[in-house]
Amino acid sequence: MIDSKQIPDDVLSVCRRLRQAGFEAYLVGGSVRDLLVGRSVGDFDVATNARPEEILGVFGARFSIPTGLQHGTVTVLVGEPPRQVEVTTFRGEGAYLDGRHPSVVTFGATLAEDLSRRDFTMNAIAYEPKAGAIIDLHQGQQDIARRLVRTVGDPMARFSEDGLRPMRAVRQATQLGFEVDATTLAAIPATLDAFRKVSAERVRDELLKLLLAPCPSHGIELMRQTGLLGEVLPELLATLECRQNRFHKHDVYQHSLATLDAVPAEPILRLAALLHDLGKPRTQTAQPEAPGEFAFFKHEYVGAEMVEAIAGRLRLSRAETELLVALVAHHMFFYTPDWTDGTVRRFVNRVQAERIASLFSLREADIASRGRGEDPACETRELRARIARVAAEDAALRVKDLAVNGADVMRVLGVGPGPQVGRVLNRLLERVLDDPALNQKDTLERLIPELASG
Ligand code: ATP
Ligand code: MG
Repeated sequence: MIDSKQIPDDVLSVCRRLRQAGFEAYLVGGSVRDLLVGRSVGDFDVATNARPEEILGVFGARFSIPTGLQHGTVTVLVGEPPRQVEVTTFRGEGAYLDGRHPSVVTFGATLAEDLSRRDFTMNAIAYEPKAGAIIDLHQGQQDIARRLVRTVGDPMARFSEDGLRPMRAVRQATQLGFEVDATTLAAIPATLDAFRKVSAERVRDELLKLLLAPCPSHGIELMRQTGLLGEVLPELLATLECRQNRFHKHDVYQHSLATLDAVPAEPILRLAALLHDLGKPRTQTAQPEAPGEFAFFKHEYVGAEMVEAIAGRLRLSRAETELLVALVAHHMFFYTPDWTDGTVRRFVNRVQAERIASLFSLREADIASRGRGEDPACETRELRARIARVAAEDAALRVKDLAVNGADVMRVLGVGPGPQVGRVLNRLLERVLDDPALNQKDTLERLIPELASG
């Protein structure tokens, strides 16, 4: 059941104006699904038999933007503040020649044709607001009630047409807490060839959405069972059955999934949690004094190199890559109360202040996921307080906070730009981290000559 009161007036008015101009207008896709599931709706999409030029005619050039004319999409602006509603002409499509794009999009299609080319039954339901009618030609409501993601039509054919759909099935099931219908799931391994043709950017977007779900490990498991994980993050498969030691209840894979579920829902933090121990299989070393137990020396640095390669493959941005690499590389800190203020400052300098909160979330989730009942905040609680204290003293923590800059170094040494300048600034910073009182222009300038040699 859908009640028109759940739909914003602006969206209803878009349908009304199309109807008054003699066209059909339906809400379709994710918005209808989310209304039926009882989930908050992101975007409202409208499907109509009006052609793009006719949609522009109904709303006027000032209030409609032809965002994807070749696909028949016009973005209509309604209400105050303006809301964007995507209005799309019913699509009937020709064959998919390359597994990614339909070779032709034909207009003049019917609602039924439009619904039958949609991916899953739950996404192929239309709602006509004036009559309050639900048009459900593929038993989408029944699948929603059974909490199942099922393709419209033969899954082998639908997954071969567009190789991203298996990933969408897994992602949407994970977001909704649904299962993937058995026949639909079984078609995924057989259509991985089509999946391999999909651009890295589209896969990345699906993966990051999946990771933000309430229980993302469910999606990673679905990916593993269907072979998608071997395509997207093959490195993770090596963590399966990778045994650890007395500090851990789980193998590295199960521990990684538990850590993933335990960190706050931020995309790169979630990805870092999933991949934080990726270096363990390669560094696993037997412990002669503890039979059956293993050590993983420097696994965080091996892991950091591995996630850098993954970030490149997934086309993450530079900032995302740097955050991911830093979180993995620094996740093994061991705070003890005998850290000096200098050690605390150097730690913040190494990790970078803006990443501390995420790193601590990762560390706490990591400890909680060992499954041995330890206090997850045993280190971070006190270290957090120590960091706040040294920050309050307004001590220099980075090169740019020093009382001298590169120009001062060059002037004192009588040299031009070069790597030596940066080296001297870093050595000055090391001194200041240990003794913030040194951070005075004349004091630092006196130190420059001795730090420049050697
Ligand atoms: P989300 O909540 O992620 O936005 P959504 O279902 O709205 O979920 P969109 O990507 O916004 O997903 O797509 C809108 C609608 O277009 C879908 O509900 C589905 O009907 C259709 N659709 C999207 N991608 C595909 C695809 N690859 N193949 C077939 N139909 C698709
Ligand atoms: Mg959507």
